[in-house]
Amino acid sequence: MKVLVHICCAPDAVYFLKRLREDYPQTELIGFFYDPNIHPYEEYKLRLVEAQRTCKELGVELYEGEYDFDGWMQAVKGYEEEPERGKRCELCFDYRLTRSLEFAKEIGATHMTTTLLMSPKKNFLMLKESGEKACENSGVEFLAPDYRKGGGTQEMFKLSRELEIYHQDYCGCLYGLFKQKESEIYYDLLSFSGRRPGSKEERLFIKEVRLFAEGTLRLSCREWEFSFLNWKLLKGKIEVGGRTVPSFVRAYSCSIKGVLKADPVEKVGNTIYYSKGGLRVVMTEGLRDEFIEFFDGLCEPTFLVPAEYESLLLSKRVSATLQTDISPDRSSLLLVGSVDAEEIRLVPADTLQDNRGISLAQARELLQRDCELILKGHRSYLFAGACSLGNPGGVYFERRTGRKVSPLLCNQSF
Ligand code: SF4
Repeated sequence: MKVLVHICCAPDAVYFLKRLREDYPQTELIGFFYDPNIHPYEEYKLRLVEAQRTCKELGVELYEGEYDFDGWMQAVKGYEEEPERGKRCELCFDYRLTRSLEFAKEIGATHMTTTLLMSPKKNFLMLKESGEKACENSGVEFLAPDYRKGGGTQEMFKLSRELEIYHQDYCGCLYGLFKQKESEIYYDLLSFSGRRPGSKEERLFIKEVRLFAEGTLRLSCREWEFSFLNWKLLKGKIEVGGRTVPSFVRAYSCSIKGVLKADPVEKVGNTIYYSKGGLRVVMTEGLRDEFIEFFDGLCEPTFLVPAEYESLLLSKRVSATLQTDISPDRSSLLLVGSVDAEEIRLVPADTLQDNRGISLAQARELLQRDCELILKGHRSYLFAGACSLGNPGGVYFERRTGRKVSPLLCNQSF
């Protein structure tokens, strides 16, 4: 007996696979991650990386299906407004299970099933019928065990927490995102360069580092989540004589109402102060964002502009527009190695607006290079989210564990 297990996400897979193992001990289980419905792509990657980590942990081989988002959109066309558990979901199951069957046949599986059956929010009967319909006359039998029963759902959450698995907060598709998250979707769909604090990209980076550290180097890992005051730039521009000046916006700058027209008043150090609205322009060497080491509570609208524009800015009136948001958000920390290591080094998981920061390849290199030191307890690495916004993660870690971390390396290129 060989079972192809269609895997939708790690939380649903972790207990389902464990139970399949217990119920079919002599059976070969093959995982198939096939989720072209997931949007945006960063969310898809996040769920994939967590499915890979879970399968590695359980010793199940995992294949990735094609991310044919366009095909999935076509399949559910006309049913965009359907509620969850309605016709769109039925078509979504049919699409994913029909293609999963093709893969099951390719690898010579005798049976097929899906971890979607574990999800408390899905219609079990609809899924069972969809799976049976897909497998009809194919020679592959569809298995539909109900592992939700008898406390299975609670066990799933418990196991998922123990393994520190990312738990999504919407079903997955664009339409579910609109309906289930309502006002919060704006940030889910915004695209940034780099990995902004509290973003999906930042979380994905942390999960990818963990997959490598745990799965490849066999290093112990632990994660924490923390809340922090997140500053987000929505849009910003500074103009002189109708010409836009290249700039970044200093973190924690407040919004400007409408368009602010102001004259230069004085220059102190590298900062030009303007006549209205607390506006400031800080001269930088080249076009560079800044790392905020400590949030001092000040929030004047501040643009960071290359020094070559200084005389232009001092000579004329400027027009500035700026829209930002500041609100509580969540980010995470990943400790690779022991919390009792002689030294704990802090590495930013986020990047600056200009994209400076550590890349995934560099993070892997760092861990590979220091693998022995980590294993012997001489050193650990703390990958911290939201570092560029005053290092709230580092502060949280020190308070939570009572351990000191080494100074930040955020404001440099790796
Ligand atoms: S809500 Fe979930 S099951 Fe329904 S169509 Fe969207 S992704 Fe598929």
